Amino acid sequence: MKTHLMLIKLLTLHSLLVLSVSHTFDFFYLVQQWPGSQCDTKYSCCYPTKEKPRPDFGIHGLWPNWINGSYPSNCDSNSPFNAIEISNLMNQMESHWPTLSCPSNDGQKFWGHEWNKHGTCSKTVLDQHEFFSTTLKLKTHINLLGALKDAGIHPNGSEYSVTSIRDAIKEARGYTPWIECNRDASGNSQLYQIYLCVDSSGSRFIECPVNLAKKCNTSIKFPSF
Ligand code: AMP
Repeated sequence: MKTHLMLIKLLTLHSLLVLSVSHTFDFFYLVQQWPGSQCDTKYSCCYPTKEKPRPDFGIHGLWPNWINGSYPSNCDSNSPFNAIEISNLMNQMESHWPTLSCPSNDGQKFWGHEWNKHGTCSKTVLDQHEFFSTTLKLKTHINLLGALKDAGIHPNGSEYSVTSIRDAIKEARGYTPWIECNRDASGNSQLYQIYLCVDSSGSRFIECPVNLAKKCNTSIKFPSF
């Protein structure tokens, strides 16, 4: 009888654990940022110590999210960012995930923030090295700037309709992005960040399961960098 009870307790504990692990999040947002729009605001920006980033979208992060619109954050303070774990990714990190915060720095603060706040919440799926390598792979695979340029949308300070930007990406890559805008120092609405959704294993892009309402004017600037 005692062993029976013990077994039931163990099974309940096991199913609770499985439930909580499989429900840690539902999908990821891959968020990319146009550096020109981070730097031409009233807050300005600072280039990484090594060099000015290339004129390309940079990674902001890979963010686990729930379908109800909220998201987990800072899930494990016992698993701090460790740059040594991703030393073989450093060149790619500097090139595709550049820091723009001030004062000028090597990027580890930004990457550490992204790992601590978001990465620790998808640890059951992607360990630290996988979190960064997967994000880099997704970013280079989707090549947003290539998709926009092929559609005649260039970062030269011209204005484009948000619809034309969204459609260009959807038609070239097959997935509908969400566009986030900010304002330049003169108050013009401009293309700031692009959100795409990725399945909860981090292996493929998906159509976003939720609507992300982001404020943009109908027509927005795509500044140079
Ligand atoms: P998150 O907490 O992941 O939503 O990211 C927001 C934080 O990232 C803010 O503190 C921003 O200032 C910072 N941030 C956003 N873009 C960059 C960037 N390119 N370089 C450094 N920090 C950034």
